[in-house]
Parts: sequence; C-alpha cells; structure tokens
Amino acid sequence: MRDELVKALVCEERVRVIVNSTTNLCEEARRRHGMWPTASAALGRVLSIGSIMGSMQKSENEKVTIQINGGGPIGTIMVDCFPNGDVRGFVSDPEQFYTYNDTGKLAVGYAVGREGTLKVIKDLGLKDDFAGTVRLQTGEIGDDFAYYFTVSEQVPSAVSLGVLVDTDNSVIAAGGMLIQMLPNATEEDIVKMEAVLANIKPMSELIHEGKTPEQIILETFDDAKILSTQDIKFRCHCSKEGLKGAVLATLSKDEIKEMIEEDHGCEITCDWCNTHYEFSEDELKELYNENR
Ligand code: ZN
Repeated sequence: MRDELVKALVCEERVRVIVNSTTNLCEEARRRHGMWPTASAALGRVLSIGSIMGSMQKSENEKVTIQINGGGPIGTIMVDCFPNGDVRGFVSDPEQFYTYNDTGKLAVGYAVGREGTLKVIKDLGLKDDFAGTVRLQTGEIGDDFAYYFTVSEQVPSAVSLGVLVDTDNSVIAAGGMLIQMLPNATEEDIVKMEAVLANIKPMSELIHEGKTPEQIILETFDDAKILSTQDIKFRCHCSKEGLKGAVLATLSKDEIKEMIEEDHGCEITCDWCNTHYEFSEDELKELYNENR
C-alpha cells in the first residue's frame, strides 16, 4: 500500500482530522539507520506526526523541525517536516530494543524518557521563526504531541500514532491520526470525539488490516468531508556539495592535510538519511586550495 495523507473535516466542519499511512517511510528510516524495534517505533511515531505537521504549513518555504530529548537511552530524536508531507529524521542511538514486561509492547516511553522536552521550530522563511517547547508527558510521543498542540498552539487536539514492527525488525504497518477542535467546535463535538477515541483501534492495527487513510476516516466519522489526498515519503535533500560546505568548513586546514596525506580521502555521512559521501584525495586537495 502507498503511503498517503488525507485531510478531512467532520462535525459539520468544526473538527479537523488528518490521517496518514506511513509504513514505507518508517521502514525506509528503519533500513537507512539500522534501527532496532523500539527505536523504529519511537522515530516512526515522530515521523508520522511530523508528516501531518508538515502538511499543515501554508507555504512551500515553510519547514517544521521537531526535536525531542527525554533523557532516555535513545538520546535525541530529530525530524524535519516539509509542506508536501515528506519527512526525514534520525535518533542518536538507533540500537534500542526494550519491551514493557506487563504488555510485551515496545517500550517507547522508556527509550525516549520523560525527563525533558518536545520542541517544535517552524522556519517560516521570516526573521522570527516560531518555536514552542513543552515538557514531555509520557515519552510515548502521541500523548506528548496532543499536549503540545493543546498547550503550545492552543488548539485542543488528540493524537493517535502507531508503528508495528515484525520479528525480523522490519516495519509492517504504521500511521497517524490528528483530531483538532476548530474555534467553533461545540461541547457536543468534544464529547463525540472523546467517544470516537475511546473506541478506535490502534492506528498500526487499522493500517495492518489494509485500510487506507480515507477508509479509516469514513469508517470512524459519520459526516466526514474529505478535503485532499497526497502521497508522502521519507525524503532528504542532502547533497555532496551541501555536506562539503557544512562539514569541511568545520575542519582546520591541518586536519584536511592530514586526511589527504594519511587517508588519501574521506567519507562524510548525512545524519538525516545516513547516506555516505566519498571525497577523493583530489577533491580534498581542491578544498585545501580553496580560499580558506
Ligand atoms: Zn541526507
């Protein structure tokens, strides 16, 4: 099934719903970063909500960056979200595999930790970027984003995120749902949405059953008006040129000389997508001779 994102309005257009299926993009992140199951679930959940947040930006120049640091063994989680719903991301330590003893579920809250913050930076292409920071609630990601939207953006929201990992560590189903009360939402709408949330199956289960985001919306809400559908994917826009500037600029001339003479080249890796770029001895010499 293709990854896609569907936007809709429900409750006579007083409530916004966005649902995405993100199995392929979560699996691509898993494969690129060599992630173990709990890391796949943690990053996959952030990529899923990140794709939704990116799609909510108004102009093509806007980018959203999510940074989570809860003090747990996974370290920092970073996700970049683009207006077309595409995302990229990584975690500090991808080799995380913990489960909760009582439920056997992947222990995302433990790996992420809950002593820290969730930060959202919106690069609006203006001088003043928007940044909102909230304390983590559970480290399970869904709860933390619901809290972020409600407190920092002051839009009462519910978030459901799920990533299902197979015994061979591959991601076999993943997706997300965001429900937001628009300013004219009524008390009745809130009660109705609470009832929906109390009865809805986990997102990963719905996606695993083969349901598309549109089917999930139509089966969950009785008066859904579908607004748009778009394809989404894991996307990094790094390039050898870009990394050359960013990373080699931090090296001293002596360090470059050392790499030329001792290693006869070097390899630079993009943190976001784990692509390796080789620089030959000649290319390093060129850099060495550039105006430094
Ligand atoms: Zn990259």
